[in-house]
Amino acid sequence: MSRLLLISCLVLFSAPAFSQNNVSLNASLKDSLFIRKLADEILVDGHAYSNLQNLTKTIGGRLSGSPQFYQAEVWAQQALHDAGAEKVYLQACMVPHWIRGGADTAAFTTLENKTLLRTRSLDILALGNSKGTGPQGITAPALLIHSFDELQRRKSDVKGKIVFYDYPFNERYVETFRAYSDAVPYRVTGPSNAARYGAVGVLVRSMSSSTDNNPHTGAMNYNDSFPQIPAAAVGLKDADSLAAALGKNAQVSVYLRTMAQMLPDTLAHNVIGELRGSVFPDQVILIGGHLDSWDPAEGAQDDGAGCVHAIEVLRVLKAVGYKPRHTIRVVLFANEENGGRGGKKYAEEVGAKKEKQLFALESDAGGFTPRCFSFSLPEAKLAAIRPWIRLLQPYGVYEFTSRGGGADVTPLVAQGFTVGELVPDSQRYFDYHHSRADVLEKVNKRELELGAVSMAALVYLVDKYGFTPSP
Ligand SMILES: [Zn+2]
Repeated sequence: MSRLLLISCLVLFSAPAFSQNNVSLNASLKDSLFIRKLADEILVDGHAYSNLQNLTKTIGGRLSGSPQFYQAEVWAQQALHDAGAEKVYLQACMVPHWIRGGADTAAFTTLENKTLLRTRSLDILALGNSKGTGPQGITAPALLIHSFDELQRRKSDVKGKIVFYDYPFNERYVETFRAYSDAVPYRVTGPSNAARYGAVGVLVRSMSSSTDNNPHTGAMNYNDSFPQIPAAAVGLKDADSLAAALGKNAQVSVYLRTMAQMLPDTLAHNVIGELRGSVFPDQVILIGGHLDSWDPAEGAQDDGAGCVHAIEVLRVLKAVGYKPRHTIRVVLFANEENGGRGGKKYAEEVGAKKEKQLFALESDAGGFTPRCFSFSLPEAKLAAIRPWIRLLQPYGVYEFTSRGGGADVTPLVAQGFTVGELVPDSQRYFDYHHSRADVLEKVNKRELELGAVSMAALVYLVDKYGFTPSP
């Protein structure tokens, strides 16, 4: 070291600043080593994948109100006990009870000058919460609609038709959740928007940019002012061929048969497991995922992954002998997919008990390589915890954003609590989401585990420092 450099270093590290840096350096090293310990436990002796295997292969799809959902409640209580939870309990909540009721079928027929040119079947799935056609099915001319603006312009053409919304994912968005948010109104409100002008049924291009033909279901909601018409999602290849036939100005009619039914609301439960806080037992750090999933597959990425992430965080803290300062509470929510009632019920109970939630972190974006955590914090507060990123970087997380939390924890924001969400790589999520492809085989064990490592590390840092500046 040159004398000049030595002098400038001495000037730079004046005594108080140096000792402060030294303290934070020590804290940072201690945290880094502790997080390494959590990571080793999860990557070498983890239970996340075996738990997911168990949930997906012995129970499978588990829509709220289905027999499989109640099996999942029993499974989750056992998994939380096995993970070392000191207290496991159920929180009752009423949930919608929608059933598919049988296989969904559809086909389209192309006619020219009343001559049948071709008939082609369509791979479809009835939309969640939709009403079925009944066993006879319905047949009606199809109307190709590209946007709600076009629906409005062509409202006089809609009566008696089956409206086909062909609104694709916007491939310009690198983060696929943006494309989903952009397209999903066609699934959620498209059926009632078409019924308003006299449509008799709706088909919607699946919310995906996958290269297969699996239809992707998901919730829709009826507007009570209009007739409840049947609605289904179409696989992307079939959506392309239906759009091509309609684009040729040929007469196209669609046959649609769905057997779906909405039954009266039924009782289900959020499944909860806890480690009691040693300093602030009345303040909760929540880690969650949703236990319900769509019926056509195993709900492995959505949201089995989130459930086993949350259970694994509790397990690893216990396994390494960590004594949390705040109460660590895993909540496996009952009804994210077609009602969000589990999250609403939880927030309602928190409000009634006036219970403080220091932080509520959800994993509901799949078991892919972690990239980011999103928080409901304003930018200024987020800046204070950004130094944590260097502790999380070895496990994949390189960014904190202020885009809020998961769907089940978001109701807590109204009570002033901070929520967040694990944001993994999003490129493959919508290939599987709500489709038959959402199975265990699409989950990579290491990627799943890294998600749990990142969540455990974040929970540890929040438990130790709160949302104040730290090392
Ligand atoms: Zn989900």
